[in-house]
Amino acid sequence: MATKRTPSFDSYNPATGEVAGTYPIMTTKEVTTTVLHARNASAQWQKLGFTGRKKVLLAWSSLIINRVDQIAALVSEETGKPIGDAKLEVSIAVGHIGWAARHAEEIMRTSYRAPGLLMANMSATVQRSPLGVVGVIGPWNYPIFTPVGSISYALAAGNTVVFKPSEYTPGVGMWLAEVFNEVAPFADIFTTITGLGETGGALCASGIDKLSFTGSTRTAKLVAAQCAANMTPVVLECGGKDPVIVASDANLERAVDATMWSAMANAGQSCIGAERVYVDEKVADKFVALAVELAKTIHAGAPGDGNYGPATMPSQLKVIQSHIKAAIKDGGTCAYGGPESVKPPFVQPVILLDVPEGSAAMQEETFGPTIIINSVRNMHEAIELSNASGYGLGANVWSKRQGKRIAAELECGMVAINSTFSFAAIASVPFGGVKQSGYGRVHGPEGLLEYTYPRTVVRTRFNLPMNFLSFKRKASEEKLVVTLTRWLKGRLG
Ligand code: NAD
Repeated sequence: MATKRTPSFDSYNPATGEVAGTYPIMTTKEVTTTVLHARNASAQWQKLGFTGRKKVLLAWSSLIINRVDQIAALVSEETGKPIGDAKLEVSIAVGHIGWAARHAEEIMRTSYRAPGLLMANMSATVQRSPLGVVGVIGPWNYPIFTPVGSISYALAAGNTVVFKPSEYTPGVGMWLAEVFNEVAPFADIFTTITGLGETGGALCASGIDKLSFTGSTRTAKLVAAQCAANMTPVVLECGGKDPVIVASDANLERAVDATMWSAMANAGQSCIGAERVYVDEKVADKFVALAVELAKTIHAGAPGDGNYGPATMPSQLKVIQSHIKAAIKDGGTCAYGGPESVKPPFVQPVILLDVPEGSAAMQEETFGPTIIINSVRNMHEAIELSNASGYGLGANVWSKRQGKRIAAELECGMVAINSTFSFAAIASVPFGGVKQSGYGRVHGPEGLLEYTYPRTVVRTRFNLPMNFLSFKRKASEEKLVVTLTRWLKGRLG
């Protein structure tokens, strides 16, 4: 923990309300200086090459997993989530570090392209270069997994990184950089800065080469606007309202088990958590009955007691309660729990049925342990309603035979068929959304390439008798190009 100084802020244990730590609110000047140091370290980090960087990243990942008890305890203290959940989160994050470290070289290898007929005398290549300094702004709900999905890929690609964790989980953010610096060959490769929103704003304006933001859609828009002033590119990983589609041929036991976990684990504070279910009316009653049965066995409580913990951010409790009330007011019914399930700092499981699509509970991200189950006449209706959302992050489809067909029609960044959350743990696939859920990707080759830029290099291999790119060009040569273009139907390039 950092030493107390002014100005500073406290992080809290949301289960007890006790102060977990005190951290500095870094000023614009301090942020700019940190970014400058990161920039100075950048050339040396690039010079280490893929092998050198891989060594450092793998040593970092080993330290993290060897200290899983320590970091899981800290994650649990700052978020309120069960230790077991925190350990799983750490393991998946470590998997991403390893994947990024091991695959960066192959993903960034120079690619050779066909030069086309007109430029047949040229060789055409595309090189990939790191950007320089990448800024990462993270949320509190998965304070290891989420930022590591940007940090490790940016580092593996050869960038240095300055990370601003959420003000709810600054201790976890500091820990990540401290452990990295135990194995770092020199300083300033990966630094954590602490503070509130203003410190994040200072990072956006600090002249970084790219910003990778994970958080709410509302903040993402502010961040994107601020970055636009400097032409700083951004990756935006925002909220969601993920649908679950259940067909009549689904394995209902599995679908209910996974959907309830997806909706309620981590106290429902998962960007890719199930928020609304569209179940075929032929199996809706059974689905609801199984969900209620399962809900009876789940309860919120402090780590060590509950299946999931408290709301990490106390202000979210109001949103959760207002969505439950709106769902009922708009015509929905409670199959399990209700407004009384919100008992600060905990929210016990809530299952709502038949909530009209226009309700705030169906439109906005609830981010709590609630699930809405609406029945539909057929899968066409389920797809249409799923796509009617302003968000487009993830989706789950449960069907024995129609999974791929339904998945192909969904407007979202990720779909799990007969599964939930799994794409987040597969390092080779990109993670991200469309519409209000953001743009750009983390994870996989696409996620790694976000932290690089393409440099096209073309080279003359031999000189042609005709040179179109010259004032000495003849009219007959121009005519030849036009004629060839016509004959080849545009296949000159
Ligand atoms: P948030 O938007 O409140 O905060 C995110 C981060 O932005 C914090 O570090 C905060 O300090 C910083 N910030 C706040 N104001 C800022 C400003 N003006 N300029 C720069 N930075 C600023 O989000 P949160 O409550 O921490 O996280 C929860 C949200 O994150 C949910 O909506 C969830 O769906 C989303 N999320 C998305 C993903 C994903 O990958 N798509 C993953 C996890 C969480």
